[in-house]
Amino acid sequence: MSTTLEVRNPATGELITILPAADEAEVAEAARQAAEVFESGVWSRVSPRDRAAVLLRLTDLMERDAETLARLDSEDAGKPITECRTGDVPGAIESVRWFAEAADKVFGRVAPTGPDHLGVITREPVGVVAAILPWNYPLAMAAWKIGPALAAGNCLLLKPAEATPRSVLHLARLAQEAGLPGGVLTVLLGRGDVAGAALARDPVVGALSFTGSTATGRHVLATAALTNFKRVSLEMGGKSPQVLMADALCFGDALIDDMITAAFLTSGQNCTAGSRILVHRDIADEVVERFTAAACALVIGDPSNSDTRIGPLINHAAVTRASRAVEDARTAGARVDAAELPEGLHPNGSYYPPTVVTDVPPGTGMLTTELFGPVVSVQTFATEEEAVGLANATDYGLAASVWTRDIDIAWRLARGIQVGVVSVNSYSEGDITTPFGGWKQSGFGGAEKSTTAFDQWTRQKTVWIRTR
Ligand code: NAD
Repeated sequence: MSTTLEVRNPATGELITILPAADEAEVAEAARQAAEVFESGVWSRVSPRDRAAVLLRLTDLMERDAETLARLDSEDAGKPITECRTGDVPGAIESVRWFAEAADKVFGRVAPTGPDHLGVITREPVGVVAAILPWNYPLAMAAWKIGPALAAGNCLLLKPAEATPRSVLHLARLAQEAGLPGGVLTVLLGRGDVAGAALARDPVVGALSFTGSTATGRHVLATAALTNFKRVSLEMGGKSPQVLMADALCFGDALIDDMITAAFLTSGQNCTAGSRILVHRDIADEVVERFTAAACALVIGDPSNSDTRIGPLINHAAVTRASRAVEDARTAGARVDAAELPEGLHPNGSYYPPTVVTDVPPGTGMLTTELFGPVVSVQTFATEEEAVGLANATDYGLAASVWTRDIDIAWRLARGIQVGVVSVNSYSEGDITTPFGGWKQSGFGGAEKSTTAFDQWTRQKTVWIRTR
């Protein structure tokens, strides 16, 4: 079994670095050391305000190194650099800052007892906790976990995805520079089926937050159940609909721009990608024509170029998966419109063009399986009920967007579509103040962002005091 990880640039196939990979014994040792640090109280018993001060220093250092962090994610994941500069990195900084500022604002409660008792309900850190990250938002997902987990006083073991460890390693160095005591944040590099599985199994780890595919999430939950029933939160894949009612074209170019972002952010490798366009049949032709033209006009190229909107997929296997799904749909009778890959792309880059698939016969795999590439299917409907039925016709339930000026219809759709986040007349996941998470096989719902994130990283305790 390999004890190293190779990090390659998806735009060129070039080897960036080789890093050591932890085995099961090293994971267990890291958890044991983290437990010692937790018990020592150097972080867990520091006042929340003082913890906040360290985390706020970390955000200042992230600001200082913003360009480095953006470049590391862009090189490792093939993400367009402009997305990293304007989305991932500022979002990560905001997330850590918001949770730092919230550290001393999460109150306990006092129960409404009779006069002879005092019932105090407190929240305490879990202890040693872990997070397993995907490759598509390496820094941003790390920040969603680090913010609340550390603000709450835990010691965190963080495992980045094999392909994208460098921004997280840099973040850990910044945390040290900010004054975070040693052993409070430990980055564990390793393979998923070795180090990731070891974290899920480890009896010292009291809580585990997993973001990744539904298939892996299933393993993680089953593995955790076999040992200590650690508290597991799962944020997984999606097959999110963009629902356009008959009046949606009244939003003009803003509609098409948002639909393009929804479909093609991170070259379509986004958990909330709006990969299924569901459009009222009265406007379908015009929407498809305008959307396809906009998709074909996106700049495809080297992700380090600030104009690039579509970079490479994470690896060649992802290209094969996308092209197989599109070919299967074509064979089943669907129409496929794809952008041209420009000349001059690096021959070893794993590029796949923005692709729009219409007239997809029901039952075609692409309508229900997460594809994780710049591929969008289009289906039409005639009634609101049909739209809701199509939107819910998948095992996933992460996100949806709904476009209409009619507030009654928008509200009914938002209530009827079974997902964790619905955005109306925009493509958005809300901001750091609103909970994020999927339903159904996309996850447990609402475990990330907002003050609800503290539920994952703290344990509730009742202290019952007789006062007479
Ligand atoms: P993945 O499931 O292949 O890997 C995710 C992480 O799990 C990696 O760190 C990997 O090393 C680890 N892992 C793999 N096997 C493991 C095992 N047996 N036990 C424990 N850990 C294991 O997912 P990916 O390809 O890195 O990421 C893409 C997926 O993540 C997509 O499905 C996407 O929708 C999802 N995602 C979801 C969200 C969300 O918030 N819902 C956000 C980003 C990505």
